[in-house]
Amino acid sequence: MSTPIAASTITRRSVGYQPLSRLPETFHAILDERYQQALIYHPATMTFYEVAWPVAEAVRAWELAGRQLGPLATEERALAERALRVLGERVAARPPAEEDAEEINTRRLRRLAINVTQVCNLRCPMCYATDDQLGAGTYGSDVRFVIPSVPEQAFKRMLEYYPEGVELIQFHGGEPLLHPRGIQRACERINAYCAEHGIEPPVYTVITNGTCLSEEVLDLIERFAIRVTVSLDGTREINDANRPWAPGRSAYDAAVAGLERLKQRKLGPFSIECTISKPHVGVDLRELALHFKSLGAATIHMAPASVSPDHPHWLTPDEVRQMLEQWRDLFDEVMDRYGTREPLYLRSVLGRLTTLRTRHREKHLCPAGTNTIAVDVAGNISACFMFTGQREFQLGRVQGKAQPEEYRARQRRLVQTLLAHPSLCNTCWADGVCGDCSAGQYITGMRTQESYPYSCQYDRLLIERVILGLARLRRDPSAWSQLKANLIAAPEDLSE
Ligand code: SF4
Ligand code: SF4
Repeated sequence: MSTPIAASTITRRSVGYQPLSRLPETFHAILDERYQQALIYHPATMTFYEVAWPVAEAVRAWELAGRQLGPLATEERALAERALRVLGERVAARPPAEEDAEEINTRRLRRLAINVTQVCNLRCPMCYATDDQLGAGTYGSDVRFVIPSVPEQAFKRMLEYYPEGVELIQFHGGEPLLHPRGIQRACERINAYCAEHGIEPPVYTVITNGTCLSEEVLDLIERFAIRVTVSLDGTREINDANRPWAPGRSAYDAAVAGLERLKQRKLGPFSIECTISKPHVGVDLRELALHFKSLGAATIHMAPASVSPDHPHWLTPDEVRQMLEQWRDLFDEVMDRYGTREPLYLRSVLGRLTTLRTRHREKHLCPAGTNTIAVDVAGNISACFMFTGQREFQLGRVQGKAQPEEYRARQRRLVQTLLAHPSLCNTCWADGVCGDCSAGQYITGMRTQESYPYSCQYDRLLIERVILGLARLRRDPSAWSQLKANLIAAPEDLSE
């Protein structure tokens, strides 16, 4: 069963974006029983302060009362009032978190995703690219393999729209390694064009289910220094239930054997991506992350599946509660490991950690349409591979004459409307640090919700656990300097 981005769930309204998280008078209390930590976070400056437990409780009561002191009991009101005054004086001395002045980046494109196939050999039940009629990985299109000229045209078109070039090209699908010839042709032609014009060629990456990592494919990976991300949803049992292949064939065994070959030929570092869904309820995510690390992954990405409310993998409220506890355990483990010589590079934590440490406010929820642009097998340009086949998110075509003004106008329109922050973000303290997936918001129906759904509870928990972890590490100078060393040593994550 597929989870397409149904046109009916697309909100066309442009959302007025005046986030509370930018206001200097906004504070957020974080109380944690596990480590007995009490903190106040100030979103506008991205700073946090350790406070006494009753103070954090009083500030939390103020938050719950709609950021008003009036409804609080006398003692609590006095405590909150004093805390807000003192904190207000402290944050007044700090500059606000930085933010890019430009609404969209028009100089250099971070990621160009190219679908070399729109077909897949697996039948994953949560795949957003599966069409009930046309099959797995098709995005509802009957064109299965990339038109040979499209990758080169896509690259050249992006050079016309981004004068400083394209940083990385990510080969996507379906399953892109079902068509190694398409990848080979793309790399050959793009490299030849770059050599001819004195341009630095992009870094190549591929996202694969790992079942096609034959020696011939590894030759291709070696030849073009392609960085690999393998999607693996767990140990053998869960992965093969979530990523079913032909009867008697194990996608897990094939992927692990492929990763072994990759390691033997020293074609790393590689990443593992894991979609967490209903079969993971009750699974220890820390053990799972350590399992991926033991397979040799330099970076790990684990994120909740985006499914629609009528999908069998939609979580019940009890399952959401349980999953959030599992996520909490994982985030805490990852944060504590930053203070040791055994870090676990989980992309979600690393991303939030970087945002908070650099105090650089994210202008957009996610890179779709700004730092990520996608091209499908037929040459249609859209805001992200997850929007393939969705006309509303299209920005033009790679064929024909370049139309830079039209492209830029459509891009701005998209960013201001369909990709604008949903109204919930206006009143969310996590906004500016949160990196929620725009496409996921459409699939899950988040954009029309009035209370924080699972995806937001996950994002808010992640940020809280990162802040709590930073506060713990900050207390211990050696753990703090180990954190800094681990951040410097962190492998660049090329999958986002
Ligand atoms: S957690 Fe949800 S409401 Fe808050 S900023 Fe992220 S997407 Fe917006
Ligand atoms: S977060 Fe989601 S919508 Fe945004 S760029 Fe990544 S996959 Fe695309």
